[in-house]
Amino acid sequence: MLSRPSAGARRPAPFAAFAAFAALTLALTCAAARPAGLAGQRPWTAEDTRAVVASTTTLTLAPDLSRLGPGERVAVRKLLEAGALFQGLYEDQRHPDAAWARAHLAEGSDEALLYRLYGGPIGTNASNERVAFLPVRPEVPGKNVYPPGVERAELDAWLAARPEERDALLDVRRVVRRASASELDFDLAMLGAHPGLALLHPSLEGELRALRAQPAPEGFYPIPYALAYADQLERIRTLLLEAADAVAAEDADFASYLRLRANDLVTSNYEGGDAAWVAGSFGNLNAQIGSYETYDDALYGVKAFYSLSLLARDRARSDELAAALTDIQQIENSLPYDRTKRVRSQIPVGVYNVIADFGQARGTNTATILPNDADHARKYGRTILLRYNIMTEPTLFASAHNRFCAAVVEEQCDALTMGGNFERTLWHEIGHYLGVDRTVDGRALDDALGSVSNLYEEMKADLVSLFAAPALHASGYYTDAELRAVYAGGILRVLQLGEPRRDQPYQTMQLMQWNWYLDRGVVSLEDGRLRIHEEAYHDAVTSLLREVLAIQSAGDEARGAAFVERWTTWLPDVHGVIARAAASAPGGGYRLVRYAAVDGEGAR
Ligand SMILES: [Zn+2]
Repeated sequence: MLSRPSAGARRPAPFAAFAAFAALTLALTCAAARPAGLAGQRPWTAEDTRAVVASTTTLTLAPDLSRLGPGERVAVRKLLEAGALFQGLYEDQRHPDAAWARAHLAEGSDEALLYRLYGGPIGTNASNERVAFLPVRPEVPGKNVYPPGVERAELDAWLAARPEERDALLDVRRVVRRASASELDFDLAMLGAHPGLALLHPSLEGELRALRAQPAPEGFYPIPYALAYADQLERIRTLLLEAADAVAAEDADFASYLRLRANDLVTSNYEGGDAAWVAGSFGNLNAQIGSYETYDDALYGVKAFYSLSLLARDRARSDELAAALTDIQQIENSLPYDRTKRVRSQIPVGVYNVIADFGQARGTNTATILPNDADHARKYGRTILLRYNIMTEPTLFASAHNRFCAAVVEEQCDALTMGGNFERTLWHEIGHYLGVDRTVDGRALDDALGSVSNLYEEMKADLVSLFAAPALHASGYYTDAELRAVYAGGILRVLQLGEPRRDQPYQTMQLMQWNWYLDRGVVSLEDGRLRIHEEAYHDAVTSLLREVLAIQSAGDEARGAAFVERWTTWLPDVHGVIARAAASAPGGGYRLVRYAAVDGEGAR
């Protein structure tokens, strides 16, 4: 492998600026040296650091791996190594100075803990603003997958004049560059250093050369992730192929998925791996590998960020669940919209214990459904990965329960159960299978709804889960207590600890639900707490779901944004009171997740 600087670290200008900082020992006393934050933002302070460090507890995931075969054990080692590379790539995608920060953090320092907690040099201060806690550039909405400092208006105008460029520029796995001789020379040199890529992307070199031949290259051009991150992806590809060889005799399906995914990384086309992933019947292991989720792209919401989740299958629970899932077509047919479709009766859903998560997948996420690509989902379906050792982690549930109890009237506190939360989450993921998956005129939802597409997809899934609950109760799937627990979980879900920012799709759509429930009498305020009125629940869920499905069907971003605006009111004497109560419940604060399988990695 050629020794080139990583994509995150290659631009010389910031390095000159940071050379001075590099001389400091970086248990950074950076408050004085730190560049100013964005206008109106409060800079990060030593007090912020103290508050975050003091409220962070570490949670270690250590699933039982004794059933793994010898080949599976080798595969685990290779995939953990690939995961560590994805972690670096993810941080580089999120911030242009991440590589610099990584190289200069002092092990064991508070800043190293913050970096690990936030996955980069940008933290969330007490005012829920994203600000730098290291001496790096402020965060921008397009992170590091668009040109530095580009504004949406400039890109919009450029695309409006060249609609034929839109698909390539806003592709899920391409970085956007601002055209200049030096950028083009760099990309051409990178292509020259990775001759295999020229074969896999036959038109790329010609396009770059044509642009470079212009007297003064201008505008924007896309680069496949395969080229932008070629060095790291080449190494990861090798690791996946080695993992496949190791596991082939024990788990042929998993091996063939790993081989296809290894190639997907260098073609930037995930179709082969996605098909093998969703349709394969795996043994003890499963893994989410590559760039899928677009939550980190706050400019257009279309660029995917890297992740790797390594999972151990809980066979007994997976088999039990598959048997319990009856035909979901009935639920699809009952949804409040008139474009119902055929859904698969066999949904690939599994119960897993997390061995380790890297990059975008790291955290306390309880479940995943992938792939997101509408065509892949239509052709092959989507796989649902329930993350059991996170869903049932005792300290996480205890703190969720405390939060719920602080927010609702006392006699409703015990309605929430771990089982109810598991079911609400399971049906949230199934909810992604149901409802609108294309606009009425055939466009993909991501494209059509742009910056609000994630928000509406997640709200749809939340609402389908709650919408299905009474029918599942009537069929005997839920007991009375389980129905109550799922409904309680629906209220826990919408509670906020502070006013969400618009670039937080989950929190924003949760606030919208909360406001809708207040408006429709599902919850009312009683002495600074919420009282849940179950009798009003189903009508409220149905009416909001109808709105969401209509907005997705229409695929009108402006209409979607206006609806968001209308339902995100934050009243200090309503939301603020509940948020304060929930935030001060015992067991709150930050969770740093560590993995027993990753030796030494956690110290960063
Ligand atoms: Zn979801």
